[in-house]
Amino acid sequence: MQALGTKRSRQRERILQVLKRTTSHPTAEWVYEQVRQQIPHVSLGTVYRNLHILTAQAKIRELDFGEGLHRYDATVEQHYHFVCNQCGVVRDLAVPPQNDLNDRMRDMVPGNIAAHRLDFYGICSDCLGKI
Ligand SMILES: [Zn+2]
Ligand SMILES: [Zn+2]
Repeated sequence: MQALGTKRSRQRERILQVLKRTTSHPTAEWVYEQVRQQIPHVSLGTVYRNLHILTAQAKIRELDFGEGLHRYDATVEQHYHFVCNQCGVVRDLAVPPQNDLNDRMRDMVPGNIAAHRLDFYGICSDCLGKI
């Protein structure tokens, strides 16, 4: 039982490291392909399960940009994203969180505000270069 617990936490640690090494906000399938190179017998279900646990532990963030799939981000501090409508790339924006936005919205929100998310959509510079 002890060995099984150790194995499980080692798999979870590998998954976390894979996410910390990338800024591409990958899908579970991408994470699975990376982890499989280090742990060949790992299953996609195991990767999904561990991604959910890491999300619940607030060690990673689960993102949904309306693509019908989830992406994962090891940067848990509040930050904004730019999403390319053409190639789907997701980039972090080096913009400080607009904390005054929470104050400005206070009277318009039916409850207490803990945080907000801002996602910007458009065409990335790489795709613009190809037009
Ligand atoms: Zn693009
Ligand atoms: Zn991000």
